[in-house]
Amino acid sequence: MPRPIHACIHLDALGHNLARARRAAAGAKVWAVVKANAYGHGLTRVFSALRSADGFALLDLAEAETLRGLGWGGPILLLEGTFGADDLARCERLNLWHTVHDAAQINWLATRSKPRAHRVFAKLNTGMNRLGFAPEHYRAAWQRLAQLPAVGDVGHMTHFASADLAGGDADARELFARTVDALPGERTTCNSAALLRHAGNDAMLGDWVRPGIMLYGSSPTGAQPDARAWDLRPAMSLCTRIIGVQQLAAGASVGYGATFRAERAMRVGVAAVGYADGYPRHAPSGTPIIVDGVRTRLLGRVSMDMVTVDLDPVRAAGRAADVGSPVLCWGRHGGAELPIDDVAEAAGTVGYELMCALAPRVPVRVA
Ligand SMILES: *Cc1c(COP(=O)(O)O)cnc(C)c1O
Repeated sequence: MPRPIHACIHLDALGHNLARARRAAAGAKVWAVVKANAYGHGLTRVFSALRSADGFALLDLAEAETLRGLGWGGPILLLEGTFGADDLARCERLNLWHTVHDAAQINWLATRSKPRAHRVFAKLNTGMNRLGFAPEHYRAAWQRLAQLPAVGDVGHMTHFASADLAGGDADARELFARTVDALPGERTTCNSAALLRHAGNDAMLGDWVRPGIMLYGSSPTGAQPDARAWDLRPAMSLCTRIIGVQQLAAGASVGYGATFRAERAMRVGVAAVGYADGYPRHAPSGTPIIVDGVRTRLLGRVSMDMVTVDLDPVRAAGRAADVGSPVLCWGRHGGAELPIDDVAEAAGTVGYELMCALAPRVPVRVA
């Protein structure tokens, strides 16, 4: 019998969340963001559920190649653009759209000759200070791009630093509007947080929106009540089983470093999941976890292949809480649901990181 851990990808949830994004987007077209192997869910696995998107946005040429191999003939956008001049021939062959955020990328495009082969978005730095042209150089960059024979339509893109904070993108939004004002070309500014915040507001949303995390059912704010309020459903579950049980006497400790000490006699379960599966090593005692459908807590340190959990609340709810009992680390199983955001918050991280960290050794089912 294989080790009893597996992840489950819920295609119904992906479809539902895409429909939520589409509704919020009103008249804007939707890039489904599937970078990082669809946030750890598997690009090939999610494709069928997301194929009603208007386009797919990602980073790697290899992922773009995979999408074309799956039969996707629609738009694909490279969010970081090209990484070298030799990417451009492949972009032409795969008919990719790309972001242009740096003068070097314009120079590479200037060496290409196939007329209007490249659809691009010029990227404006509105204060994130990662990628993008500074506002004072933006128009010149945009105009240079628009004059290149190999370049077709040139749109406008930015990425907000604080879209997940109330009012956090107002200044950046104003800077974007002022800088691209009166230039032709499609506009795209909104990630999940901005899309949800400005849902239905055509003027704010522009021509294309770029939802990522919301498609996978986690809140871009990191706050679980937001995911619930926006009616997002978890697209990934991480499930395992109890493989050992210990009866602790008062004063006994659990796990490496003996960081948890029992105040009274208690029953502890050992679940087959650890940081080598992608469970966050920094999750402290008290992190929520579900055993036999009952919400309980982690005890002691997370180790490579195991965690220890408190079985007393599970017993108190009348469940077996024994070897073989099902354990839900996040997601949904049976009627039980444990938001990935709750686990991420306890571990001092965000749902994005937990999804992306799902380890290759975990078998994945699609349901
Ligand atoms: C990752 C990414 C997105 C999606 O962000 P979410 O917060 O996951 O919605 C949108 N735009 C760009 C440029 C990105 O890199």
